[in-house]
Amino acid sequence: MQSFIQWNPTKLWFGEGQIKQLQQELGTTGKRVLLVYGGGSIYKNGVYDAVLKQLQHMEATVIEMSGVEPNPRLTTVKKGIALCRQEQIDLILAVGGGSVIDCAKAISVGAYYEGDVWDIITKKAEPEKALPLGTVLTLAATGSEMNNISVITNWERNEKRGWGSPLAYPAFSILDPAYTVSVPLDQTVYGIVDMMSHVLEQYFHRTDNTPMMDRFMEAVLLTVIETAPKLLADLTNVEHRATIMYAGTTAFNGLLSSGTDGGDWASHQIEHGLSAVYDIPHGGGLAIVFPNWMAHCAEEDPSRMKKLAMTVFGIDAAGKTDHEVAEEGIQALRQFWDSLGAPSRLGYYGIDDQRIEELVHKSFMKPSIGQYKVMTRDTVRDILLRSLA
Ligand code: NAP
Ligand code: FE
Repeated sequence: MQSFIQWNPTKLWFGEGQIKQLQQELGTTGKRVLLVYGGGSIYKNGVYDAVLKQLQHMEATVIEMSGVEPNPRLTTVKKGIALCRQEQIDLILAVGGGSVIDCAKAISVGAYYEGDVWDIITKKAEPEKALPLGTVLTLAATGSEMNNISVITNWERNEKRGWGSPLAYPAFSILDPAYTVSVPLDQTVYGIVDMMSHVLEQYFHRTDNTPMMDRFMEAVLLTVIETAPKLLADLTNVEHRATIMYAGTTAFNGLLSSGTDGGDWASHQIEHGLSAVYDIPHGGGLAIVFPNWMAHCAEEDPSRMKKLAMTVFGIDAAGKTDHEVAEEGIQALRQFWDSLGAPSRLGYYGIDDQRIEELVHKSFMKPSIGQYKVMTRDTVRDILLRSLA
């Protein structure tokens, strides 16, 4: 196990009716709040009204910024920064899924940065100050509600970049699973694939003697695998929504990689390349790429894939080679995601090999990608070619 610090300053309010805590979190009355949200799902499921009621009670001045796109764009971040300055905002409240929260994180640091916020997103500059940020989560997927990561797309340059800062943790997040019952089937599946992928990225580490972390991760995966089919059969079941919601937060709030080298994350980088060029849903891209990354890596070293196969998918290893057990585990993961209706080939999104070199290039938005296996252009190309078929 490696040395680590466990520090996560986000205060989580979890459960039905927790929206009432917004008043306490807002603090004194009369604050100027930038309310950030997406394309309007919050009008249809009652979340908008519930949030506004709390804000009105606190006599907040509310400035609204709607229209944050899935795979949020730099142009939208800049719009938010301009509003914060014009309106002298005290606090940002993000109401939505990962895209809305990620966009709000970039706005919160950009509001105090004199230069172009793209400098922060591309890690050329470190943020020094941020507006306080609170979130009301409406979609279980990214973990952004309790981490310091944000992913922003520069559509003009076809670049999707992840960045992070200790200043980017939300001060508080309100997680009411009832707010997620309106998430449609496809987005529910994408969210499940994303949270499982976050666990898997961390599971593929190379640190010895991490039984606590490994079992935490296996527990999250087993819980999602057990609950997801029940939820898909009954999308309005708040208990199942609650289990999946907390799994999504736990999957990526720092806990699971405490004491490890942090895991791999190449599949996320390859997916960011795909989204940057084709604007596909993050979870859909991961469902296609991740099993192919695993198959590629298992050819060289099947040890972790074998462990996953046995502990999470219950594969019997008796009389089989490590490679065979690993392969059965990868097939079990593919079958599970297939059973949920997740895509398994790039062709699902109409993607063929026409722009493959561009996709390889767009995966390398960092000097080095992959840690369990350090990627080269050739290995990324191989994973993408496997993903086509
Ligand atoms: P999302 O892009 O935030 O939302 C997807 C869609 O779901 C939107 O159309 C949204 O509609 C809708 N939606 C959200 N809540 C809903 C509800 N309660 N009822 C009905 N529809 C609802 O999805 P996401 O998967 O949470 O976020 C994806 C983004 O996060 C990607 O850019 C990905 O790269 C990034 N990401 C970030 C992290 C991180 O740690 N920060 C980790 C992984 C991925 P509206 O627009 O109307 O709200
Ligand atoms: Fe993700």
